[in-house]
Amino acid sequence: MIVTMRPRATREQLESVSGILREQGLNAVSCAMDDIAMLISEESGTPEAVAAVERAPGVDRVVVVPGTQRLTSREFSAENTRVKVGPAGEAVFGGPEFVVIAGPCAVESPEQMTAAADAVVESGAVMVRGGAFKPRTSPYSFQGMGLAGLALLAEQRRRTGLPVVTEVVTPGDVECVAEESDMLQIGTRNMQNFELLRAAGASGRPVLLKRGMAATIEEWLLAAEYVMQAGNGDVVLCERGIRSYDRSTRFTLDLSAVAEAKRLTHLPVVVDPSHSTGRPHLVRPMSLAAASCGADGLLIDVHADARNALCDGSQALTGEQFGTLMAQLRPVVEAVGRTWPEARSRSLAQV
Ligand code: PEP
Ligand code: MN
Repeated sequence: MIVTMRPRATREQLESVSGILREQGLNAVSCAMDDIAMLISEESGTPEAVAAVERAPGVDRVVVVPGTQRLTSREFSAENTRVKVGPAGEAVFGGPEFVVIAGPCAVESPEQMTAAADAVVESGAVMVRGGAFKPRTSPYSFQGMGLAGLALLAEQRRRTGLPVVTEVVTPGDVECVAEESDMLQIGTRNMQNFELLRAAGASGRPVLLKRGMAATIEEWLLAAEYVMQAGNGDVVLCERGIRSYDRSTRFTLDLSAVAEAKRLTHLPVVVDPSHSTGRPHLVRPMSLAAASCGADGLLIDVHADARNALCDGSQALTGEQFGTLMAQLRPVVEAVGRTWPEARSRSLAQV
């Protein structure tokens, strides 16, 4: 059950509703979103319990949600949520526009970032990516540039005027990553790092939440609940492939999860065809398929010198390949009734 209080409900009214829930045998957690207080219980409650809560002073509405989802569910919000990213909402996920985020897997140097940003901006990406903190499978692999990488990414934000997204791997880094970027990415390996989810939820920045490589759709949505329950409704889900037996692709891109997640939740869903397939020649067909099955956007690895990349070079597109993909993507995006964003970066010639 989700109880939403009226905007000017008092603390006493909230406590009294909490007491009614307890009397009905329901344990509720309180949270606030957009300054509106809510009480959420895991159990649905009997019709009598719902009626008792509905009558209580200060209560605006009571929503009974079947299953395990609460704030992420379509029952709570039938309308698609629009997640605005950037100081002026330069990128909007979940609206009519199809949003393409692109850039290298890892930030490596000023020259590498400038070359990648130029390439992706020229072809119409509306956000730039680049990892500064890299959660690598092997401790001997390049671990990212850390704070110095964040600064290089922020430089591209100023240069291009486009919002940037980067991964945060530990709660202690949330504050500095939130300061230097427009959106926090939580990677597949951290999807169930609950302290990190809570810290990202409290940061005030939109969150790009990747699906755990062995997570069910339900677990993925419950991870999003952690972020939302911490007061942050700006969550974008990202399908990035799940582990299967077949090694001919890096992971198995689960596009059915995109359509299913769109049915279950009002949150936007994007697809990462790079980390899922791990093969540059599969990025184009999977991008077109993602746009066709209702994804709200894409996250694509692009590196101007992919052969010499320090991280995931074997799956990155070159700037030229990315340009070809974007030209082929536009008619598919438009055919499924979405709009292609107008170029919105500052002219690179001016900066
Ligand atoms: C990434 O996008 O840089 C990344 C590490 O992705 P994932 O968490 O999906 O492996
Ligand atoms: Mn990567």
